[in-house]
Order: sequence, then C-alpha cells, then structure tokens
Amino acid sequence: MIAAADFNITRVERSKLNEMTLENIPFGKYFTDHMLEVDFEDGEWKTVEIKPYQPLLLSPSLAALHYGQAIFEGIKAYKNQLGEAQIFRPFENFKRFNISAERMQMPQIPEEIFMEGMRLLVELDQNWIPQQEDHSLYIRPFMFSSDELIGVRPSDKYKFMIILSPTGPYYSAPMRIYVEEKYVRAVPGGVGYAKAAGNYGGAMFATAQAKKKGYDQVLWTDAYEHKYVQECGTMNVFFIIGDRAITPDIESGTILAGVTRDTTITLLREMGFKVEERPISIDDIVDAYNAGILYEVFGTGTAATISMIKELRYKDFVMNFDVDKWQTAPAIKKAMTDIKEGKVEDVHGWMTRVSS
Ligand SMILES: *Cc1c(COP(=O)(O)O)cnc(C)c1O
Repeated sequence: MIAAADFNITRVERSKLNEMTLENIPFGKYFTDHMLEVDFEDGEWKTVEIKPYQPLLLSPSLAALHYGQAIFEGIKAYKNQLGEAQIFRPFENFKRFNISAERMQMPQIPEEIFMEGMRLLVELDQNWIPQQEDHSLYIRPFMFSSDELIGVRPSDKYKFMIILSPTGPYYSAPMRIYVEEKYVRAVPGGVGYAKAAGNYGGAMFATAQAKKKGYDQVLWTDAYEHKYVQECGTMNVFFIIGDRAITPDIESGTILAGVTRDTTITLLREMGFKVEERPISIDDIVDAYNAGILYEVFGTGTAATISMIKELRYKDFVMNFDVDKWQTAPAIKKAMTDIKEGKVEDVHGWMTRVSS
C-alpha cells in the first residue's frame, strides 16, 4: 500500500476554465487542467504525479503501440443538488481494471493509487464537473506497456494515467441495429471480458460495414453459431419480454461485465421485473417479437447510460419498435440519473463522495 504522501501534486498556474463554458460540450473532446501519471518500473509503482494536463513524450518503439498491451476504464462524476462532487460506483471499475490487467499480463494497480488518485484528481478539478442536468465529468483511467523495445514479450515497464473530460448533455438517439453474423467481437477463451483497447479497434470494421448499410451499430452474436446475442456495439443489451427482463449472462467470458448492466439489473428487479441472466438466441427474440411480447430492447453503458433500439434487423427480417411508447428504458434511465445527480436518496450506496 502506498501512503497518501506518495502523491506529488503540481497545480496549474491558471485554469483553462477561465476561457470556456461547461455547457453543451461534446463527449471526449475537452480535458481538465490536471492529469494523473505513474510509472511501473523495477517491479513497483513509483511516485504518483498529479500535474498539469500535457502531451506525453514517447519513443517510437513503445511496446503498447506494437503489441497492444493497453486497457482502460470509463467512469462518471456528477454534482449533487448541493453542488458536491460524487463519483458513480468507481470501486467496480477499479476491480474490473485489475481483471483486465491480469488478462493482458499487466501489473495490478494498487487500490490506493486508483481510488485515492482518482479522488484527489477529481477533487482538484471539481470545478470542471458541470452542474447542469445530464452533464457529467467523464473519468478515463488507462494503462499501457511502456518498454522501449520491439521484442514480443510482456513489458517490464507500464504507465498508468487518469484524465478527465467534462461532457454533456449526452443525447443518444434511438438506434437502428444490424444483427452481425460474419464478424465477431469476442470468443470464449479470448479477451472479450477485458476492457482492452484492441477490442475496440477490432470492432471498427464490422461497425463501419453496418453503417454503410444504414445502421448505427451491430448486435454481436456468438462466434461458433452466430445464434446467441452478446452485446450491442460497446454496450450490454437488455430485452423486455412479457414480465421478464433478459440479458446475456457473463459466464462465457465474451461479454464485458458492465457497471451500468449491473445497476440496471438491480433497478429492474426493484421495478418488479423477473431478471434472467442467460444465453438468449436471436430465434427467441424473433419469436417474442412475432408473439407481440418483445416490448423493449436497449443497450446500457457509462457513456449514454441507456440507449433505446428502435429497429433490429436479422437477415431480411426487420423488427420495429415504437420507442415513444416505452415505459421501462426511460424509467431506468431516469432512476439512474436521479441517483447520480442526487435528486433521490442513494439507498444502494452507489455514490462516492469526493471531499469529506
Ligand atoms: C465499457 C463496456 C460496456 C459498458 O460497461 P459500463 O461499465 O456499463 O460502462 C459494455 N460493453 C463493452 C464491450 C464495453 O467495453
């Protein structure tokens, strides 16, 4: 464990906030005044630097650029009604980060560096958390291999960083989705359950093909039979069928265990749904649609929270949904946003205070 004394904080002389407003900012484009940076060398994590946001100077032989040992997380901070900064379920992301690190043969990050480092950084830049509805501060922890050597082997050196990006309002229009039967995102035994950078790069071609056909995203199916649904783009997926809510289980290791997925399961149960985590085939979905009991289909993830699906295309069969009449997806979204923005009591203990 590293004591708080090993955090070295260097503040900016003048905040960039003086030159900008936090209203209507696009996702991922602007960054706050400070960042966190710490190197792993000689088998240990060195002093954590919290310092002015700045470019990195890297060697062209940087291992991560060649062999892809790179992982990340996505978390959000909000201001409650009193203007206090709070982070949504960050400990879940911390645990998942180390699961990703293990799978990519990277060192574990100590809880103190991830959690206390994030808290200190967000506290320092808390003026960057927009107070407006549907706005938030996106937190991006990441780690990559940093040996300067182009031999194929796990690196000896790694860099862990956290950067912060104000964002909002994040509107996600109801999506048209193409059920993918050729390309796959993940395979059993693969890295689908890790938040590895390469999973995103590997998904872009299939997504671009679907976009050419006029769709917003793909619904991934399993690698063996293209029969069981997996995830919708980079979101977990839920189907409301009758009085049940069904989402693919995470046992096979091909699905990213989303924090929003877990949160949604809890909220659905509280709303009276029977939630089933199990394999669900595209045939089951088509049957439910034809029987008139497939009421809603939506994706869940930190960036958009809930994204409704208005059209689902499987081969030549098109399923259309009247999202304006939906009850469940909007209710889940509202329930989650109300907790995050401190409009209702946080009975689950999901919000972590930034300052005491
Ligand atoms: C990040 C991610 C999700 C959503 O996870 P959250 O913790 O809810 O943000 C879902 N699927 C994939 C592939 C992801 O990378």
